Amino acid sequence: MTIRELLRKKAHSLTGKLLFAIGSMMLFLGFIFAFSFIRQFPDVPLWKVLVYGGPFVFLTSFALCMILYNFVTKPLAYLVEGMKRLSSGDMDYRIDLKGRDEIGILARSFNSMSDELKEYKEKMENWTKSLEDEVQKKTSEIYKAQEHLINTEKLASLGRMAAGVAHEINSPLTGIVTFSHLMLKRTPSENTQDIEDLNVIIDQAERCSKIIKGLLGFSRKTSSEKSSINLNTLLENTLAMVRHQSRFYNIQFDLRLDSAIPEVIADPNQIQQVFLNLLINAADAMEKKGQITLASRRIENNGSSFVEIEVADSGPGIPEEIRGKVFEPFFTTKPVGKGTGLGLAVSYGIIKKHEGTIFVKDSPGSGASFCIHLPAQNTTV
Ligand code: ADP
Repeated sequence: MTIRELLRKKAHSLTGKLLFAIGSMMLFLGFIFAFSFIRQFPDVPLWKVLVYGGPFVFLTSFALCMILYNFVTKPLAYLVEGMKRLSSGDMDYRIDLKGRDEIGILARSFNSMSDELKEYKEKMENWTKSLEDEVQKKTSEIYKAQEHLINTEKLASLGRMAAGVAHEINSPLTGIVTFSHLMLKRTPSENTQDIEDLNVIIDQAERCSKIIKGLLGFSRKTSSEKSSINLNTLLENTLAMVRHQSRFYNIQFDLRLDSAIPEVIADPNQIQQVFLNLLINAADAMEKKGQITLASRRIENNGSSFVEIEVADSGPGIPEEIRGKVFEPFFTTKPVGKGTGLGLAVSYGIIKKHEGTIFVKDSPGSGASFCIHLPAQNTTV
C-alpha cells in the first residue's frame, strides 16, 4: 500500500476525521487568538507570536487528539473488530472494556450477544448431529426392510415356480417308481443286469421324489396338523433325538430357555424339521465340534407377542454376501452330493406357513445365528 493510499484510507476512518476536525478547530482558534493578541499588543513582533503560539496550538491539538483517541476511537475499533470476528464465525471473541459509559454498555451487550449466539450455535450443531444420526438410522432401517421385502418377494415367486415344477414332475415320477417296481417283480431272477439297472432307476427316482418333497415343503403345498405346543419342550425333544448321533458327539449345547414363554399353534413335526435342519447345518458348519446355543424368549413386536427361538453356533458364520441367498432353494456351499440346498428353503416355507419369520441374525462375533419368530397363542400385550 502506498503512502497516498494509506492517507486516503485514514482520512476516511474515524481517527482521520477526528484529527481533521480538531486540527481545523485548533487552527481556527489559533488564528483568532493570534489576531486578538496582535491587536491587543501591537508592539510584539509576529515571529514571536508564531514561535510561542504555534507549539502551544500544536501541543493542545495533540493532547486533545490523544484524549479522544483513547476514549472514543480505540474502544470503537475494538467493537468494530468484535463485529468483524463475529460475522466471520468466531463466537469466542470478547471485548474487554470495563467503562461505565455508552461504549462500555455496548461492549457488554456485544459480549452477552456473543454468549447467546455461541450457545444457540452449539444447540443447532447438536440438533443437526442428532438429526443426521436419526436420518442415517432410519435410512438403514428402510434399506433393511426393502431388502427383506425383495427377498420375501423373490422367495415367494421361487416358491410358486417350485410348486408348479414339483406338481408337474411328481405324477410322472410316481409312475416311474411304480412301473419300475412292477418291472422288477416281473424280471426273472437270473437277469441280474436288468435287476441292477432297475434298482438304479428306482433309487434315482426316489432321490428325485425326496427333492420334490423338499420343494413342496418350501412352497408350502403340504398339509399340516397344528396344535398348541410348547417350543421349549419341542426343542428339548429334538435335542434328545440328535444328541446321540455321531455328528453331534463333540458338540456342546448351551440351553438358555425361558420357561415363561407362551405356547404357539404349530405343527410339531414340521417345526421339529426346522430345528433339525438348523442343528444339522450348525454341526456341519462347525465341522462337528464347537458349541451350539439354543435360546427361547418372548418378544413383543408391533403390539403382538411372539416366541423367539435362536440357534447360534460357534462356526465360521455366514459371509455377508451370501446371507440373502441361504433361504433360496438349491443354494448350497456344501460339496456336490453333501448338500441339496433345500434345508433352509424348506424351513423358510414351514415358518411362513405358520405366519412366522425366520432370518439370519447379525452376529458381529464369530458363528451364525438363526432366529425364528412364531406368533404366541393369546397374543395380548
Ligand atoms: P444345505 O445344508 O444342503 O447346503 P441349506 O438350505 O440347509 O442347504 O443351507 C444353505 C447354505 O446356507 C449352506 O450350504 C451354508 O452355506 C449356509 N448355512 C446354513 N447354515 C449355516 C451355518 N450354521 N453356518 C454357516 N453357514 C450356514
